[in-house]
Amino acid sequence: MHQTIHKNLIGGEWVEGPSAAENINPSDLSDVVGLYARGDACQTEQAIEAAQAARPVWAVWTAEHRADALDRIGTELLARAEELGDLLSREEGKTRPEGIGEVIRAGRIFKFFAGESLRLNGELIPPIRQGVEVEVSREPEGVVGIITPWNFPIAIPAWKIAPALAYGNTVVFKPADLVPGSAWALAEIIHRAGQLPAGAFNLVMGPGSQVGHSLVNARQVRAVSFTGSADTGARIGLSCMQRGAKVQLEMGGKNPLVILDDAHLDTAVSVAIQGSFYSTGQRCTGSSRLIVQSGIYPRFIAAMKERMAALRIDDARQPGTDIGPVASSAQFEQDLMYIHLAYEEGGQIAAGGEVLQRATRGFYLSPALITETDNTMRINREEVFGPVASVIRVRDYDEALHVANDTAFGLSSGICTTSLRHATDFKRRSAAGMVMVNVPTAGVDYHAPFGGRKGSSHGAREQGSYAREFYTAVKTCYTAAG
Ligand code: NAD
Repeated sequence: MHQTIHKNLIGGEWVEGPSAAENINPSDLSDVVGLYARGDACQTEQAIEAAQAARPVWAVWTAEHRADALDRIGTELLARAEELGDLLSREEGKTRPEGIGEVIRAGRIFKFFAGESLRLNGELIPPIRQGVEVEVSREPEGVVGIITPWNFPIAIPAWKIAPALAYGNTVVFKPADLVPGSAWALAEIIHRAGQLPAGAFNLVMGPGSQVGHSLVNARQVRAVSFTGSADTGARIGLSCMQRGAKVQLEMGGKNPLVILDDAHLDTAVSVAIQGSFYSTGQRCTGSSRLIVQSGIYPRFIAAMKERMAALRIDDARQPGTDIGPVASSAQFEQDLMYIHLAYEEGGQIAAGGEVLQRATRGFYLSPALITETDNTMRINREEVFGPVASVIRVRDYDEALHVANDTAFGLSSGICTTSLRHATDFKRRSAAGMVMVNVPTAGVDYHAPFGGRKGSSHGAREQGSYAREFYTAVKTCYTAAG
């Protein structure tokens, strides 16, 4: 049967790639979501040329015009949240309500940055030399390369593309190979509803080794914003630094959630279930290490098992599903490998970790809770990126804080407690970019800065007004009367 190919967007034209690939639904492997172009190095270079050529045209758009364009994009995303959320759920496997929520978030991000484009102000610094005026202003970086992962197929692209455009940059966007559907829909809306000049925004779908690699190494790409795994991020960071390009890396996590004896049990269990297993645990901010004080430990484990037994794991788009399938066969294999490894290391599979059969063939896995682990085990050192949480039992708050911080990552951390003293101390001493008290480690707001420390992040923060640090270049001008 002939299928329409969703094409790449280069210089304002939709163009076929040298090849195309099927986008498969992880809830039903017989369901093909669509056929999507796969670009290569040559197409990426064409997109970069187009973005470079569009710079002067885009630069003369006033802040108000840019704000209006972003606002129109946001309005359409919000109006089509149900339809696009369904597409997202179908191609990635998070539940339909989660998919819709993600599209709404993308729409809100465009609306937020519509306003931000009008708020980009500079500074006048008091002179210290008689008659010499000092001004500080911000300019666009130029052509920005945007490379995104598969787990938030529309929100992560939105939180990079919206500020890039708001502050006057032109963009070449390369989405993850696994989920081109949401990215293509977003690109189509940006192009049509945004009515941007040709080349200001370009989409090149295709493999990281070709499209991503070309973007990272192209002389004309002045800044690269990447979200994905630590290994890929490290390589990209090195390449960008070697050629003097600005780079922003958002990578993995091994996020701790501390549960103290004085925690409210129901809150702690809800926060842990949400943070560890929703979106099938495929969130960089997911709680993968549950650090539980010994007094509450037996009650917490028993309550977790009870809540986990009631979770419905099924087709992501079916009403009532709590947890959809794992997104891909590679991730599925990785999850099973780590569950097995944890068992071999001495952990006990207290609940879940089983491959499930459903009405359709898909990557169904029951969320796994692994007890009897310590913080030296690989299950507690390496990112799994699936519905797998391990439990570390600790004596007291001091040990909990030490274990929480004893990791190569530092994205998000959380604590469940009713003690103001411990909550305050944890917020101060947690070595993470984002700290949560009695709310899940995953789940952040689009108007606040997002990012981590240590191996989780490199470069300026994303989101909120902090996004301007990455997407603008600061210029300091000294003027004396001639
Ligand atoms: P990945 O590193 O495999 O891929 C990310 C992107 O990089 C994809 O678009 C991929 O095609 C591209 N890529 C691959 N090789 C490349 C190369 N050599 N040059 C340029 N680009 C290349 O990551 P993934 O599997 O898509 O995503 C999962 C990872 O993302 C997890 O580690 C997760 O923690 C991380 N993540 C982090 C955040 C955060 O904000 N910290 C958010 C979401 C996901």
